[in-house]
Order: sequence, then structure tokens, then C-alpha cells
Amino acid sequence: SPGERRLVYDLAEGSAAMKPLLGGKGAGVAEMSRIGVPVPDGFTVTTAACVAAMEAGGTWPDGLWEEILARLDALEERTGRRLGAAERPLLVSVRSGAVISMPGMMDTILNLGISDESVVALATESGSPRFAWDCYRRFLQMYGEVVEGVPAHAFSDEIAALKGRRGVEQDTDLTVEDLQELVETFRTVALRHTGEELPTDPREQLRRAVHAVFASWDTPRAGVYRKAHDIPDDLGTAVNVMQMVFGNRGDTSATGVCFTRNPSTGAKELYGEFLVNAQGEDVVAGIRTPLPLAQMERVLPDAYGELLDTMNRLEQHYGDMQDIEFTVDDGKLYLLQTRTGKRTAAAALKVARDLVAEGVIDRETALRRIEPAQLDQLLHPGLDPEHGREPLTRGLNASPGAGVGTVVFDADTAAERGGAGEPVVLVRWETTPDDIHGVIAAQGVLTSHGGMTSHAAVVARGMGKPCVAGAGDLHIDVEARTVAVGDTVLTEGDTITIDGTTGEVFAGALELVPPQITDDFTEVLSWADDVRRLGVRANADTGADAAKARELGAEGIGLCRTEHMFMDAERLPAVQAMILAEKPEERAEALERLLPMQQADFTELFTAMSGLPVTIRLIDPPLHEFLPDLVEQSVLVQRLEDSGVTGRELDDARTVLGHVKRLSEMNPMLGTRGVRLALLYPEIARMQVRAIARAAAAVREQGGDPRVEIMVPLVGFDEELRRMRAVVTETWAEETAGADVPHTVGTMIELPRAVLVADAIAEHADFFSFGTNDLTQTTVGISRDDAEGSFLNAYVDGGILPANPFASIDVDGVGELVRLGVRKGRGTTPDLKTGVCGEHGGDPASIALFDEIGLDYVSCSPYRVPIARLAAAQVTL
Ligand code: PEP
Ligand code: MG
Repeated sequence: SPGERRLVYDLAEGSAAMKPLLGGKGAGVAEMSRIGVPVPDGFTVTTAACVAAMEAGGTWPDGLWEEILARLDALEERTGRRLGAAERPLLVSVRSGAVISMPGMMDTILNLGISDESVVALATESGSPRFAWDCYRRFLQMYGEVVEGVPAHAFSDEIAALKGRRGVEQDTDLTVEDLQELVETFRTVALRHTGEELPTDPREQLRRAVHAVFASWDTPRAGVYRKAHDIPDDLGTAVNVMQMVFGNRGDTSATGVCFTRNPSTGAKELYGEFLVNAQGEDVVAGIRTPLPLAQMERVLPDAYGELLDTMNRLEQHYGDMQDIEFTVDDGKLYLLQTRTGKRTAAAALKVARDLVAEGVIDRETALRRIEPAQLDQLLHPGLDPEHGREPLTRGLNASPGAGVGTVVFDADTAAERGGAGEPVVLVRWETTPDDIHGVIAAQGVLTSHGGMTSHAAVVARGMGKPCVAGAGDLHIDVEARTVAVGDTVLTEGDTITIDGTTGEVFAGALELVPPQITDDFTEVLSWADDVRRLGVRANADTGADAAKARELGAEGIGLCRTEHMFMDAERLPAVQAMILAEKPEERAEALERLLPMQQADFTELFTAMSGLPVTIRLIDPPLHEFLPDLVEQSVLVQRLEDSGVTGRELDDARTVLGHVKRLSEMNPMLGTRGVRLALLYPEIARMQVRAIARAAAAVREQGGDPRVEIMVPLVGFDEELRRMRAVVTETWAEETAGADVPHTVGTMIELPRAVLVADAIAEHADFFSFGTNDLTQTTVGISRDDAEGSFLNAYVDGGILPANPFASIDVDGVGELVRLGVRKGRGTTPDLKTGVCGEHGGDPASIALFDEIGLDYVSCSPYRVPIARLAAAQVTL
């Protein structure tokens, strides 16, 4: 009756559009039937029925069984067969079929309907008693295992034992009598394990089989798979009941799997495997090795020809690469499943480009289909996805790509051994700016502490280096030069492999496959550029990074963290001299030394980004970061005192300790950093502005086109920016006297107060760049460096938070602040340029929000630029 909820649909009633209800397999088979591709007849129990049953603790919704029986009657009517009958028997398969495919995770029962009566009919009909009895033993085996919970080995042990007694090797060497004996044995085995006779009524078997497939949604492995693939737990599975077709009916029958294109490379070529005289599980179980599809042409030429035509048709119909299961039953081809084929990033790009060229889809459809995050695979050397090795431990997948090298525990050793050409992986509790040289020399970074925006992670991403962060199971003993996970102990010099794409860590060396920037990549991303509104810039601190970013499509630099330039080992002494200076003249002298170094950096950047905007941020972090650690320095002084050292060495150590103490703060992230520091020591900012101005002038002189944007960090009060702008403007005028070198001055917006007074701040700003790392930290009150390894994981796993707010923008909180800041800022300065330069600038979900808010650009690490280009395009489609 109208309005009544249907729980079961005939195949002929379904279509691709009903996928949410019928699952991928049910909708796929229905759609194939609709367009005239040969498929077995059948019906589908909906995902809604499964969900209702799960919600009721396994109890089926009212009327479900009656509906199934009615659809079964209709199927019997159409096929002229009856389930399990002694004459013209109907056999069915009962298959799971989730909306989002979870290959191999859920259950299937084949050959249901075979019974003591129907086996005889099947033998007569097929002319092969062996085939019939083989079906019977297969059914009992599968049904017993999947539906009644008998352990699989209980059956396979019996087969092995029988083969032993008969002295044969292959299942196919067993005779009809052997198979008949197995059928009896299997019944006894099931009775022994379950304490009950297996039901003999095929309708009862069907009821239990449907129930078992529902329940297989909730197996641990399915749960694990869903978690790994972000598939919701409450979707449920459909159940497909289809007339059996037999790939094991003899040498004119076969079963196989194929893709319409190569899913690894995307090439349009034959890709698939098949087995003559087999059922699907023979392929899966690896009992027999399947043959390349091309060989099917020789053995089953007609079915082969029809398969190729059908593959073509399906690909044209769906407009995408298909992953197909088929069976040839006595020469006749049936399609059992078609779905969008999973593919590597390289294949995704090639298939997209080729399908557009072939006129199958338009560019927008092609762009919509590519998963932005997947592009990462192409930009970093990665592990061979087929490595099949067990990880030693896991951490956060902080920076993608894989690194292989010998374990080293400090940056100096990394720099030394790495610099000498030895591949090393830097293993640290957490990296600090002091480690930068070690990071540069390493193949990758592994930390036991810290999160996605921790220093190690940010730095590694910026350099496109693999990083696994916050691997909490690692016990690092720097003194002993060992790292342990449980019982496994690695010593300095042992080889380790980290996979920053997955967060996995392996003992030993795994093979890497190189990054591949192809024509497909360039071409498809150029389509993205044609449609996106949002600009994409890069966060880059060196000429090399800037050049890389430009190569990857960056339209400028949105953030140059100038303090990174201070961390270079050669410069650190000058930086420290500047900090430790007692008198202004000493400080001025140290700054004089730093100026040409910074100028050289900026010259590189402006050259690499000639014609494009370059946002240079004045110094941000607290000064103590450039000094030795408080504890280490105290220990040093103590040691000198204990060993009786006096004079200059001890005095210097004490002086440094004094400064470290004076500068150390309980909460440096909320301390003397950013504009606060620059207002306290304006001479540092002046030096930086001078270096910028001189570099710009020099690049212009050489015919370049520097587009300078000077940015002030951590502003919370409009007066801060007013004063800092005055310093910048005055210094700039001094430096460029006579030459008219254009530049703009803007600010980071990374404190909630800055958002709330953004209208006043905008009085002094040409642009706003939202620092969503600090803005998140200060808005949600979670430390960006500490939290992710700890309670934040539990929050995300437990569903308190939908995602890590440092990786994907907190839409309702931080997102609203960005929106408000833009509105207030533009209220004062209508042509205010706005962007984001926090880590969220490279996150597709965050990019969707930034586009909606109307920001002018996002800025992210060079290696995320392509991801941002694609994500920014997708939001407009
Ligand atoms: C930010 O806070 O978002 C930002 C980009 O600055 P940093 O990460 O250098 O603090
Ligand atoms: Mg910041």
C-alpha cells in the first residue's frame, strides 16, 4: 500500500540511483539489468532492513520475512524453478552489499538451495554428478562457517584428511563418492561444533543466511575497516539474493574479476584474472592461481568477446573505470557485480584525463572525482602499497611519504651522518628549532611526543619530508642510544622505515617507490585552476622551497617564517649574540651581522617568486628558543663548577644561564613573542625590514618584480599594529629613499581578541592572514604542541569532536571567528586582502569553509599546494 516502507526489491525494480537503499552491489546489478547487461535474476533486502534489525538487537522488522518469501516466490515464478526442489531446483547466492564497498569484509553464502533432493536433480540437469556434489559440499562448508559459526579449519581439515587417505593432491582429484562422503562428514562436523543438526529446509537456511549477512556488518574486521576508511558505523548492509550461475560447471564455465583500466597506472588495457571451472571463492582463497584475462580469448572466445563489449559498455554507462566480477556458466556470460574501481592517485589522474579526452565525461566531472588528499601519494617517495609488512608501532601520519634510514637520536649526529650521505631517520622525543639541521639531513623524522602541528610535523611538511609524530609507544633512551617498542630494541645505526602517509613505523628497510609528477598531474590541475576562485599560496622560507612551491602551482608565498632563517647553525651564534647583548651597541653589531644573511634569503625568495606576492612575517617565536635549554645550561654550569673550571668559560656559561632564566616563561606560547617581542626590541624588526627592502631593491635592479607584503604576527590590540606599522614604514622609507619600491603591511589574525577588534586593527592593515594554528590553540584552549597525543585522540575517537581541530578547522568556533574577522576587517578596509596561513590552508574540508567565507587565498606547505588547488576547485563545482 502507498506509504508503506518496502524492505525488499526485485532486481528489475532497482537502479543505480537506489544505491543508498540497495547497496553498491544491489544497485549495480539492478542497473546492469536495466541497461540489458546479462545478470542473474534476484532480489535485494534493503540496508534499511539491516539497520532496523541492528537497532532492534537482531530482531527483524515486522513483515521482512514475509516480504522475502514473496520475492522468492516471484523469483521462482520467473525462473520456473523452486528453491531446493527435487525437480528444476533453484539455487541462490546470498551476498552482502554495503553502500560504500568494503571488499572482503562481510559475508557471502553460495549454492543455497542444494539439498538431498535437489542435488540429484542438479546432477541430472548438468550431466555432472561430480559438479552437483561439489556444490553440495561447498554449500555446507560455507553455510556452516558463515551462518552457524563452525570454524573454517574444521571443514578444511576433513578435506585434507580425506585427500590423505585417498593419496591425492588436488580437490579436483576427489571422486563423486568422496564428495558424498564429505557431505556426510560435514554434517557431523557441524553437529559436533554447534550441538544441533544443520537445518535441511532451504527456506530456513535462507532466513538464517540473511541474518548472518546482517550480522557480518558488525564483525570486528568490518569495524576496523570502516574506521580506517571513515565509513559511518550505522549504514548497514543490503543483502542480495540471486539465482546461482555456475562457473564450476566444467570446462565451458569460468569465473573472474577484471578492471576496465589498469587501476595502478590508469592505462587503458586489459586488466583481470579468471579461472576455468571454478567458483569465486577458489580465486579468493588462493587455492588455484588464476590466469591473466587475455588467455580467456583462447579458451572461451565467445564469452570473452562479450565480456570486452560489456566492459566497454559499463564504463561508458558509468563514465568511470569499473571493477567487475563475472561468471561464465556453460559458455554464457553473466555479470555479478560492477563498481567504481579503486585506484592509485596516478591512475586517478590518468583515467580522469583520458575519459575527458575520450569525450566520456567533462572536466568538471573529472575534477569532482579525484580525492585531493590522494595527490600526496604522488609528491613523496612512498612505500610500495603491497609491502605486506607488520608495523612495529604507529604514530600520527604527520607528513606524508616514506623514509628509510639508520636510527639517530640527535640532530648533530643526523647532520653529520646524513651530511656524509648516509640515509638517517631522526628519532626524537620531540624536535625543537635547534634540530633543524638534523631534520634537513634526515630522510624523515619520528617523534614519540607532539602532534600534527608540532614543530617536527610543521617543519617536515614544509620540507616534504616524511614524519611520524607522537608515536607514544616508543621508549627512547638517548643516553643508551636505543629506542624500544615492547620487546623490540633498536640501537643507533639500526635501520628503520617510517611511513608518514599512514603513521606506521617498521623495523628494517622497506622498498620505496619514487614520486611521479606526470603530464596527467599538470593537465588535470590546470583544469582545477580554471574553475577555482580561491587563490593558493605556499608557506615557504627558502628559495628552494619557494621554487618547489611555484613548480607545484603556488601563486605566491603566504607565509615566510623568518625565524626559521635564524635557526641555521651558521647563524645561530649571531642570533645568540643579539639576544645576549648587554648593551644596545652590542645588539646593533650582532644585528648588522644578521642583516646580510637575511637579505640573501629574501633575495632568493623574491627571485623565485618574481611577479607574485611574497608575505614576509617579522620574527615570531620567543627568544629563549634560540638559546640552550634551561636544564641543560644549568647542568653545564654545575659541571664546570664541579670540575673547578673558572674564568671566561664559566663566566660565559653563567651569563647564558642568566639570560635563559630571564627569558624563560611558564607559558612561552602566550608570552613574549610576535609583535610583543618586536615592540620590545624594535631594532630586530628594523633589521628585518631593512633586509627585505634591500633585497627587493636588488631584485628589481636585476629586472625582477618583487611583490612585498610585510606581516606582523600575534597582534591582539590595534595599538600594537599602529606602532609596528610606523616602525616598518619609517625604516622602509629610510632604506628606499628615492626608489619607489611598493610594499604592503598587514597582520596575522591569530588571537580571538584580534578578531573581536578586527575593525580597529584593519585601520592599520592592508591585509589579514588568519593564523589558524594559534587561533585554534587560543580559541579552543588546547595546546597545539601537547594535546594531540593525549586526550584529543580520545575526544576524536569517542565522537566528542568530529575531527582534530588542528588538522581540520573547527567550523562552529574558529571558523565563525574567521568569518567575523573578515567581515569586521572589510567593514573598515573594503579592499582588505584576506587569507589563511595556518595548517588548515592545505586541508580540503577547511578550504571549503574558507571559500564560502570569501577569503582571497589559502597558504599551505609547498607539497599541499596541489591538494589545495584541487580542493578549491571542487568547492565551486
Ligand atoms: C598560525 O598560528 O596559524 C601560524 C601560521 O603561525 P605559526 O604556525 O608560525 O605560529
Ligand atoms: Mg602563529
